[in-house]
Amino acid sequence: MNRSFPSLTNKQFDLLVVGGGIYGAWTAYDAALRGLSVAILEQGDWAGATSSASSKLIHGGLRYLETYDFRLVRKALRERQMLLEAAPHRVWPLRFGVPVYADSRIGTVQLMAGLTLYDFLAGSLGSEMRHHHFDAAAFAMRFPFLDTKNLQDGFTYADAQTDDARLVLELIDGAMAAGAVCVNYCRLTDFLEADGQACGATVQDQLDGVSAEIRARQIVNATGQWTTSSEEGKGWCRLTKGVHVLLPAMQCEEALLLTAKSDGRVFFVIPWYGLTLIGTTDTDYKGDIDRVAVEKADEAYLLTEANHYLKTAWTMADIIGSFAGVRVMKQDEKSSPSSASRDWELKTASNGVHYSVGGKITSAREDACHIVNAVCARLGVDAPCPTRGRKFP
Ligand SMILES: Cc1cc2nc3c(=O)[nH]c(=O)nc-3n(C[C@H](O)[C@H](O)[C@H](O)COP(=O)(O)OP(=O)(O)OC[C@H]3O[C@@H](n4cnc5c(N)ncnc54)[C@H](O)[C@@H]3O)c2cc1C
Repeated sequence: MNRSFPSLTNKQFDLLVVGGGIYGAWTAYDAALRGLSVAILEQGDWAGATSSASSKLIHGGLRYLETYDFRLVRKALRERQMLLEAAPHRVWPLRFGVPVYADSRIGTVQLMAGLTLYDFLAGSLGSEMRHHHFDAAAFAMRFPFLDTKNLQDGFTYADAQTDDARLVLELIDGAMAAGAVCVNYCRLTDFLEADGQACGATVQDQLDGVSAEIRARQIVNATGQWTTSSEEGKGWCRLTKGVHVLLPAMQCEEALLLTAKSDGRVFFVIPWYGLTLIGTTDTDYKGDIDRVAVEKADEAYLLTEANHYLKTAWTMADIIGSFAGVRVMKQDEKSSPSSASRDWELKTASNGVHYSVGGKITSAREDACHIVNAVCARLGVDAPCPTRGRKFP
């Protein structure tokens, strides 16, 4: 890519976006398409943090029905359908199997009701995206590696999968094509303020250590877990760590949604570039935000829980790779990490900097549209959101 650090300093931008994950990328792309002059900075590589450590699903989130988060599920399902149409090369359908055993936490009737509601919330769907029910024998044929002891029946339902990092790269590419100045390995070190309002930032080129000042009329901070670097940001966010492990391929092109026996949490077994991705864990995170590591206990939890369902157990020696990411959620110490809301929020700090808090890869486009609407309102610019239904760059 054409990376030009000096291009950041020779003018005043309408909008400076800090953070090159999915939220920063959609925000910069949307704003540039609306005709704003935009700069976006990323301290490492594009999508180098949580936006390349997700489960890579574009999904409504079947499990959020259990917490009655219907609005969030509906919003995400609408975005799923839009992305399947707007970016078919990058977002593709993926079917999930859900086995029902005699001791399953969620039984056949409850699951059928949930999947019917899920299909309903998705709106009009072709039969390939609707759920289906199978008796035990038919389900076992579909997933031949599953333990069939006490298997009662099972369902399949459709969601979608993506390559999260490439999704971000394509949006950055689109933002550049629309005129945005996009510079990675460039870290914001401080805000510049005039009369208590942010009017720019001090940044440092991470390749040669050179510092410079950028002028901008509006600033959006989409820095994920680094939002907690400021006192104000710390009060808005709850952080949890999520780990995935990568294992050899299974004889199936469909994914599985399973329930952990130890704590009743939902996790996935997903085909991924010829291998199998299992995840995720979800534990409160108070550690170093610059060094989020996979612990042996995370790997052991995922293997133990997956092995409950398999005819042939995996061992730690089968693990090919693993990665950890940090979820940012709205502050809520009352719920367990898994049941805390995944909804997104826009906060504006006392110095006028807008902060994107929480959210999902799936719904980041719509959330970014709200961010840019807020920016345009402050700038007095009247321009509608251009990204809904727009073919990918
Ligand atoms: C384990 C896990 C699984 C998930 N699975 C899914 C899923 O399947 N589907 C889904 O829809 N969502 C999923 N999510 C949620 C989704 O991944 C996140 O909501 C999303 O990636 C957050 O994007 P972001 O842009 O806010 O943050 P990030 O991707 O973390 O981006 C923030 C960026 O800001 C940069 N930055 C920080 N400070 C500075 C600075 N001072 N200067 C310059 N740059 C800076 C960082 O380097 C980073 O790249 C999952 C999350 C986790 C943790």
